[in-house]
Formats: sequence, C-alpha cells, structure tokens
Amino acid sequence: MNGNNLDQVRRHNLSTVLRLVHENGAPSRAWLTRETGLNRSTIAALVAELVQHELVIESEPDQTNQVGRPSPIIRPNDKTVAITVHPELDAVDIGLVALGGRVLRRVHYETAKIPTVTETVDIVGSVLAGMRSELDADYRTVGIGLAVPGLVRERDGVVSVAPHLGWNDEPLAALLEVATGYSVASANDANAGAIAESIFGAGKGIRELVYLNGGASGIGGGVITHGELLRGTSGFAGEIGHTLVNSAGVECHCGSYGCLETEVSRQPLLEALGLSRGEAERLDDVLLAAFAPGIIPPPPLVDLVERQLGYLGVALGNTANVFNPQMIVLGGFLGSLYGAAPGILDAAFQKHTMAAVREGVVIARAGLGSNILLIGAAELAFAELFENPTA
Ligand SMILES: [Zn+2]
Repeated sequence: MNGNNLDQVRRHNLSTVLRLVHENGAPSRAWLTRETGLNRSTIAALVAELVQHELVIESEPDQTNQVGRPSPIIRPNDKTVAITVHPELDAVDIGLVALGGRVLRRVHYETAKIPTVTETVDIVGSVLAGMRSELDADYRTVGIGLAVPGLVRERDGVVSVAPHLGWNDEPLAALLEVATGYSVASANDANAGAIAESIFGAGKGIRELVYLNGGASGIGGGVITHGELLRGTSGFAGEIGHTLVNSAGVECHCGSYGCLETEVSRQPLLEALGLSRGEAERLDDVLLAAFAPGIIPPPPLVDLVERQLGYLGVALGNTANVFNPQMIVLGGFLGSLYGAAPGILDAAFQKHTMAAVREGVVIARAGLGSNILLIGAAELAFAELFENPTA
C-alpha cells in the first residue's frame, strides 16, 4: 500500500469509529473493536486521534459490575455542534444539536405570518448573532442543517417549491451561507425526519425504512434504503403524500387529484375533535382518549378516522410494494391516527400489500417526538464531518 491508500484507510476507519460513537451513545473501546473487526491498538490510536480533534471523549468505565478488565468508554464530544433551521408556516425553528444527536438548544421564533425567504434569513442571522460569542467560545460548529417543507434540489440546495410557504426557486441555502458564514446542507424536512428516525428513533438500526409525517401543511415522506436516504435524480424522491389514493378524490395543489395529502389531513380531525388550529399539539391526547378502551367515540369521528386510515393503508400498501421496507414509521398526526385505531390501518395495509412483501413489515409510531427535525437537520450538517473527521 502506498501512503495515499494508507491515508484513505485511516480516514475511512476514523469515519467508521466516529459514526459508531455518534449513533450508539457511549460504547466501550472493546465494543468498537468487536464491531469494526480492527485490532485493539488500531482502535486505541483512532480514538486518540478523535479525542485530539475534540470529536469524542474517552473516560474510565464505571468499575462496578464489571467482569474482567474494564474497557474505556467513548462518548461524542458535546463541543462539536450543528446549527439547525426549519422554516414553518408560523415560525422559524432554530436549534443547536451536538454530536450524538443531543439537542442542546431550541429557539422557536414565531412570526405573525408565513415567513418569506428574506425574513427567514434575517431571523436566523439575528438569532445566531445573539449566540455568536457563545458559539465561538464554547463550540466547534460544523455548519447549518436546513430542513425545508418542500422540494429541495440536491445539486445546489435551491428550494424548487415549498407550496405551503409560497416559495418557488429560492436559493435559501446560499443566502444563509452568505448571511452567517457557515456552510449549509439542506433537504426536504420529511427526508431529514427519515434520517433521524432511522438513526436515533423508532427505526434505530433499520436499513430499509419508510417515514411518513403528517403536519399542518400536508404529508411528507422519506425513504431509507440500504441505510441511505433515497434521493432520486434531483433530491425530490419520497413524495408519498402526492401518490394517488382516491381516483374520485379532490384536486390537490400539486395539480393532481386524490393525493394522500388531500384525502388524509389534519384539519378535519381537529374540527371533529373540537380543537382549534392553535390546539393542534393536543390532537394526539384527545384523539387517543376518544378511542380509549371502554369509550365509545361519536360515529362521525369513527367514520372520519376509518376513512383516513383506509386511504393511508392504500398509500402504505403501494409504498411497501415498491420499496419492500422492514419498517414504516408514522410521525405527526399520522402516528396519532394509527394510535387511535391500529387494527383499521393494519387491515387496510394488509389488503393493499402483496402477501410476501407484507410479511415482517412493522408499522410504528415515530420515536423522537418534537425533536425529530432538529436531529434530522443536524445529520445533514454532520455528513461532511463523517466523510473526513479530522480534515
Ligand atoms: Zn398532490
């Protein structure tokens, strides 16, 4: 092997070890040795190099309950952080997330109306200006991870369309880079959610996974295949919200009709439960309470939930037939719907999925709660670090 190849091997090994520590919290050095198949001295040297670059921390293990010689514990170093940005209909969400997926800070900056791109850049700029001295003194910031509720072109980070924000062909990532001086990695928000759930959430360790999120502005999707996000030609893959579930359905803003997103939506559920838009975060509790054992829900609510779960079952069946996932993770109000009447979705899914495909597929509710997009967006920003940890 020449020096170049050795360098590549070292870089690959550093990347593997850093990723294992990032994704597994606090593994021991012995575990890393087993997991990588590398020898003990190699792992010790790799860890030492990552410690030197302030990416991981090595500490002596807790001596109690140990059999044999205890092995040092390796943790992600909280000093290495990503900034996350998620523009919403009525707010811009900004976060600080450490290696290891730990959310350190979250600023929910409410806006009186839907933020424009310029307003979003200004808000992020001023929030970061307020944090600047702290960021410079206490952290090593790898960059910004941007999760957008819309189609984000992979090549240049341009938001092609974010229908509910009214954005078209907006170079948000480039504008944020200029305004903040940080590099920006961006993606669709449900794609970021899929990454987060597959690494830290309900799908931890699962390499074939579909994630569907139901929010105020519709249904987003992301597909993880071979452990990687499926991007498609331009980065637009995973738009399961715009697959046909009702050929007699209503028109969709995308130009089609009968899309999952038009047939299954949050607003009618809120109305049926007597909740306002502002009370949307109570939807899960109120809906699950209405369907709790021993409670007879009102017939119009039952009809609505059954109808929505029926259409969701069509979409999940189509999705499973195309991607053959191990797990389908449902976030937002889709998780609430499933929680209310799991048997109805399971039956609809069964009806619309080929028997062999269906076998072993687990449908699960998302595990990361309201931190999911921060964690997912941070993964976008950390990607380059994992490519070359000590660059
Ligand atoms: Zn549509």
